[in-house]
Amino acid sequence: MTDLRSQFTEHIAWTSDNPIGLSVRRAEGAVIELAGGREIVDMISGIAVSSLGHGHPAVLRAIHEQVDKHLHVMVYGEFVIEPQVRLATLLTSHLPSSLGVVYLTNSGTEANEGALKVARKYTGRTRMVAFQDSYHGDTMGALSVTGRSVYRQPFEPLIADVTFLPYDDISALSSIDASVACVIAEPIQGEGGVRVPSNAWVHELRRACTRAGALLIFDEIQTGFGRTGSLFAFQQLGVAPDVLTMAKSMGGGMPLGGFAASREIMAVLRRDPALNHVTTFGGHPVSCAAAAASLRVLIDEDLASRAKWIEQTIKQRLRHARIVEIRGRGAMLGMLLDDDELTARFVAESLSAGVLLGWTLHSNRLVRIAPPLTIPEPILHSAVDRMIDALNAAATPNAAQQPT
Ligand code: PMP
Repeated sequence: MTDLRSQFTEHIAWTSDNPIGLSVRRAEGAVIELAGGREIVDMISGIAVSSLGHGHPAVLRAIHEQVDKHLHVMVYGEFVIEPQVRLATLLTSHLPSSLGVVYLTNSGTEANEGALKVARKYTGRTRMVAFQDSYHGDTMGALSVTGRSVYRQPFEPLIADVTFLPYDDISALSSIDASVACVIAEPIQGEGGVRVPSNAWVHELRRACTRAGALLIFDEIQTGFGRTGSLFAFQQLGVAPDVLTMAKSMGGGMPLGGFAASREIMAVLRRDPALNHVTTFGGHPVSCAAAAASLRVLIDEDLASRAKWIEQTIKQRLRHARIVEIRGRGAMLGMLLDDDELTARFVAESLSAGVLLGWTLHSNRLVRIAPPLTIPEPILHSAVDRMIDALNAAATPNAAQQPT
């Protein structure tokens, strides 16, 4: 184990100076077993990935069956790959017909890259509108529309012609005009601090895009697949995007993303020239088999409703004087505390008490709560109890730890 840790330090590129650094032995359902045997409750699902819980039997079965048939055989889009076709057919049967065609990718950021490229080519325009505090991924295109300058600046110059508007501000939408190729928005901002916009704003956003002839892209990479209480968050809003991007929990724990649009919009990828947006591994057969199995469980067991039950349970039970607010929808929740340091102590205390929580990228006082949608009731209650204890401990730091 010491060996593994020193090799982790030596050979794995770190993304921060203080990675959580837990070593995982196995994971099942809502519980992660660490090397050494300690068990922790997963209250973040690998950042909204493991919505069915870790290692769901139906997903594992589909993976095993596909592995026995074939792995990758040809770059995406050329062969009729059964798991891709079955997944796209099942997925689009739950979407409006205007989102009837799917392009499969490996990840969320690639799904957004594809969506942005489609929008530019379809409209023949270049300007892109995005929102402050958004997060759309870390490849150069998706980063160009990510609304935090601290993440963009080290890599500039990025793609030109991007306008950032304040999120949830109706008056700002008037700058969406006929120069705009697309507007990309999260229906609930995830990394921006689990921000739920007003319904009026979402409707005005849709109207502004339609009026300007700009494509509306909803990035549902975090909100998708039941997490907010419906298959996609837009389905509770009464407005549909022109392009829908997805990833994260889509593959049931396997790497997979995609974007859906109409046949007419998607046609720009086929010609002028042909093959001008291709991927080798996008829609990997094993990932697609896992995704189709995962989607079937999600629908058959109505896990979107379970997300609503999780929201109610947490909002009712998780109360404390230091909690400013618990916001979000379904099992995509953010708990806002009144102080940065308290937040850090609380997350550390929770981990010591066996509950894994995390931050969002753009905020130091917002604790992300995103358990698997399948989390058993007693485990959820016990996690909430332990979080309240951890908050008490964090709010009154142990005298022994105080400098004397
Ligand atoms: N969009 C949103 C809303 C996200 O939350 C994320 C991931 N946090 C991404 C895009 C990027 O997805 P990926 O990490 O799979 O590239």
